[in-house]
Amino acid sequence: MSATFDLDDGTLTEEQTAMLQTCRRYVDRVLRPFIAADREREWVFEPEMRLAAHVLEEADRAGLRSLGVPEQYGGVALERESEAWTFALIAAELARGDVGVADKLVQNWKISVLLRELASPSLQGRWFSRYMADPQFLMAHCLTEPRGASDRWLPYNVPEANMDTKAFLSKGFWTIDGRKQFISNGYDASLYVVYANTDDSVGMLQGTSSFLVPRETPGLEVTRCNETVGGRYMNNGEIVFDGCRVPEDHLLAHNDALGKAGIYFRPGKIMQAAKNLGIGIAAFEDTVGFVHERGQGGRVLIQHQAVAVRVAEMATKLEAVAALLRQAARAVDVRRPNADALADMAKVFASHQILDVCTQAMELHGGYGAMLEVGIEKYLRDASVYLHMDATTDITNFRIVKALFPSTAGTYAGPA
Ligand SMILES: Cc1cc2nc3c(=O)[nH]c(=O)nc-3n(C[C@H](O)[C@H](O)[C@H](O)COP(=O)(O)OP(=O)(O)OC[C@H]3O[C@@H](n4cnc5c(N)ncnc54)[C@H](O)[C@@H]3O)c2cc1C
Repeated sequence: MSATFDLDDGTLTEEQTAMLQTCRRYVDRVLRPFIAADREREWVFEPEMRLAAHVLEEADRAGLRSLGVPEQYGGVALERESEAWTFALIAAELARGDVGVADKLVQNWKISVLLRELASPSLQGRWFSRYMADPQFLMAHCLTEPRGASDRWLPYNVPEANMDTKAFLSKGFWTIDGRKQFISNGYDASLYVVYANTDDSVGMLQGTSSFLVPRETPGLEVTRCNETVGGRYMNNGEIVFDGCRVPEDHLLAHNDALGKAGIYFRPGKIMQAAKNLGIGIAAFEDTVGFVHERGQGGRVLIQHQAVAVRVAEMATKLEAVAALLRQAARAVDVRRPNADALADMAKVFASHQILDVCTQAMELHGGYGAMLEVGIEKYLRDASVYLHMDATTDITNFRIVKALFPSTAGTYAGPA
């Protein structure tokens, strides 16, 4: 029986091959055993108690936390011309172990890239050294507010759609007021990138700024951990800013923060699709094992045609997602003009196909699929979250059409 799905298509660089092998060892020796040891643990309703400390410590030891951190601060320097594809390979492999843990780390990579590109040398020195010194140090990216995120992703670029979170500069300090919700790592991050309106007379593309806000800043309060259906080892949180003051030099981008965030929105979509693929690979591998062991009708399940057809469809979907992901990642890496559209296509395609792969896994496991201790239902729950992260599928499809037909596509927001 050959039961694995390999993202290594024979074209990986030496660096990618080595990192993938290191990550695979971590996933098989640390992450998957941790998840399998107690499948009820993700349902502990004390967020601090869910993940054992050693999971991030071992990830740190394997060099999996510091992707995107510049080498001079102790990070793993990646070849820039293949960086998005390397992120994708490692994100998918981590998600094969657990997508919540993958989320925790991927958020850190994305924000490391943003800091690397936007933060001053002194801010980089201060925060990368703290980040590298503490394996539990997490970072979060705060865009979404209670009034919604789709307007940001479209974007609906008019003053009335601006963020409710505001910031103003006075006497060398930026004061931030507002509320952010649904934030990955939001519950336990040590450092936040916060987006706020700094000019209400223009649309958000011209009037949004971004700031670096340390957790211990007075006026920042983490108000809740959102209990999610999937990806539960990543503690999603809500943060309130009430007269929260950061020094002037903690400004990352002034008024054009959403444009600058493209630095990691693009690889971010690739990583979303890759994490999704990792869930599908895990569901497929477990299913392949099951249908080779379990028998009905006097033979193992794989020898029943209806079962074989489903397994073939699962494998085909994984290959199709991987192929589009590879193409999109390479487009991002070499800055092809259609990189945005491809990255969005990969994200949407992955979210639908992998949900389908996980549904097939449920079906093929019969009653076992519904049992918490078996772990198949977890894949379906984990995959379901990916319809919404980094924009809903509909909003992402609007973005694709706008990229393909810039002069004829609608704006999809505002009065008709
Ligand atoms: C697990 C998880 C992690 C997340 N992590 C982060 C994070 O780290 N940082 C962050 O900032 N955000 C994060 N988010 C927020 C996420 O980006 C948003 O939930 C998502 O973009 C949708 O926004 P919304 O929830 O406000 O829904 P809404 O924008 O209110 O959308 C509701 C529905 O209306 C539809 N809709 C909206 N506008 C239009 C339109 N113009 N035309 C047609 N249909 C429309 C949408 O497609 C959707 O079906 C996370 C969300 C989840 C679930």
